[in-house]
Amino acid sequence: MDQLNRRNIAISLPSTGEEEWQAVREPIMTGWLTQGPKVAAFEQRFATRHQVKHAIATTSCTTALHLILIALGVGPGDEVIVPAFTWVSTANVVMYCGATPIFVDVDRTTFNLDVHQVKAKISDRTKAIIPVHLFGLCADIDALAAVAPNIPLIEDAACAVGSTYQGRSAGSLGLAGAFSFHPRKSITTGEGGMITTNDDRLAETMRQLRNHGASISEEQRHLGPKPYLLPDFNLLGFNYRMTDLQGAVGLVQLSKLDGFLAERRQWAEFYHQSLGAIEWLRTPAAPADYGPGWQAYVCYVDESKSPMPRNTMMEALQEKGISTRPGTHAVHLLGAYKDRFGLRADDFPAARDCDRYSLAIPLHNQMTAADYDYVVKNIVSLA
Ligand SMILES: *Cc1c(COP(=O)(O)O)cnc(C)c1O
Repeated sequence: MDQLNRRNIAISLPSTGEEEWQAVREPIMTGWLTQGPKVAAFEQRFATRHQVKHAIATTSCTTALHLILIALGVGPGDEVIVPAFTWVSTANVVMYCGATPIFVDVDRTTFNLDVHQVKAKISDRTKAIIPVHLFGLCADIDALAAVAPNIPLIEDAACAVGSTYQGRSAGSLGLAGAFSFHPRKSITTGEGGMITTNDDRLAETMRQLRNHGASISEEQRHLGPKPYLLPDFNLLGFNYRMTDLQGAVGLVQLSKLDGFLAERRQWAEFYHQSLGAIEWLRTPAAPADYGPGWQAYVCYVDESKSPMPRNTMMEALQEKGISTRPGTHAVHLLGAYKDRFGLRADDFPAARDCDRYSLAIPLHNQMTAADYDYVVKNIVSLA
């Protein structure tokens, strides 16, 4: 590539601008800064968009998952099944409860939990399973429900805003789901998360838990007949409230979601067609009946055929101004887990390989057609 054509393409960039800037004006001017009317409106619209009765905003996907586990009563002595290849917080939330994460290996083509290996991991201590919809591709929930019919399924839908499975929305597939609005995800509120569920009682418990365990919200109290009386606190709660500044940004971002998703789908298709023939690179699976949100476009490098190891490839692309990353990490290889539980790399061979050979290439809503062409040309010319 000609140096004059050199570009600088980020792995991911948030798409925010004038409308989000304008949206934060109202909470700043009215002074209602923390969880209030903007968060309530964001929750309502998020619930409708994801086909669920309840949406409960939190400070992150991590705290959303934590609240769900606490509301289910997960505690010391309990086990929760999680995939070995995921962002570390899927396992961390189990540890926060004093429970034990039980890792299951993943499928190398979908990067999601290998349903066939789940049954052997179920014990009488299993309190929940957290399937992850990694990179926006839903886990095979029906197959999972068939092998674990009586165990609550908690969707880690951090990457799956707007994703679907057989026409059903991510977040509506299990007992509860947790989404992320970190800037690396498809829509953002800076930091932020959302719980979804159709279970009325669980929803009420989680609403209280997120607000210090208060029996009614601040907004209800301030607008109610006796704002001077403090509510009852019957649960040991947390402060996991989203601010109204974030709620206002979230409303704008949600209104752009379908446009973002359509664009991501279009460029994912372009990558499939442009890179699909490279024999050492496997482009990501998009099985029929799944509607992935393409939060990330993650390939798999076959080093037995590739011109160079994955890490050398990442370095070569970085020199061309193209950012790449491993898809995510194998949690059993991280110090906090490997050392504590005495785990070895080979315990979860597919997760180990995905950690070593997965390759996320840039895909986000700030890229131009010329950027996508540039990425493709540079990957093709590695051979
Ligand atoms: C990003 C991510 C999380 C964490 O989300 P936060 O909102 O940053 O807490 C959890 N799980 C997966 C699979 C993720 O990709």
